[in-house]
Amino acid sequence: MDSGDNLACFSGTVFDSRLKELYAEMDAAYEAVSIQSNFNCIGCDGAKCCSVDLIIHTFVEMVYLKNGLLTLDENTSSRIQKRSTEIVTFKEIDPSGGDYRNSVCAANFDGKCAIYQYRPMICRLAGIPHFIHRPDLTKIYGPGCPRFENRFRSSNPLLQIDRTPFYRRMAELEMEIIKQQGKRTQSLTISEILAN
Ligand code: SF4
Repeated sequence: MDSGDNLACFSGTVFDSRLKELYAEMDAAYEAVSIQSNFNCIGCDGAKCCSVDLIIHTFVEMVYLKNGLLTLDENTSSRIQKRSTEIVTFKEIDPSGGDYRNSVCAANFDGKCAIYQYRPMICRLAGIPHFIHRPDLTKIYGPGCPRFENRFRSSNPLLQIDRTPFYRRMAELEMEIIKQQGKRTQSLTISEILAN
């Protein structure tokens, strides 16, 4: 993400409201499947889901996530930024090393996301098995989190979320932003976004 990147001018724009709308639809789809399967995250520390591997590919989500920091008190916000900077440094030193691999997203405080309303799509859809119809007509499947697979899978063997419409609409949003900005967005991890 570039410095000074339209943070202020992006808020309240049509992109902002379309992203919120899309997130609301994802949340509704996720909730429906959660209710159907009795799945919940109560008691989970989120360490598996809130990993350092989560990569954000769209500018609109990066800005929205970063805006989440602005809603926090200064102490919490600076703790997240400091910890994110440490995680980024761990990655630079050794991306395969334990310091990096074992880190948990800096926004995770005792299993709770400090920027929950601003979390990206990858976080919103985590946990429940899914599939995606790719443009080349192949269908890709993804498993649920360990908790889902161990405790909920056997009673819900066919339960999946179709992520295709969400991915498609997110890609459409990104394409519009690329056209407007005249450049592609460099993909970044959550730490790289929050540390910046
Ligand atoms: S943004 Fe929130 S939900 Fe996403 S990985 Fe970080 S703590 Fe977890």
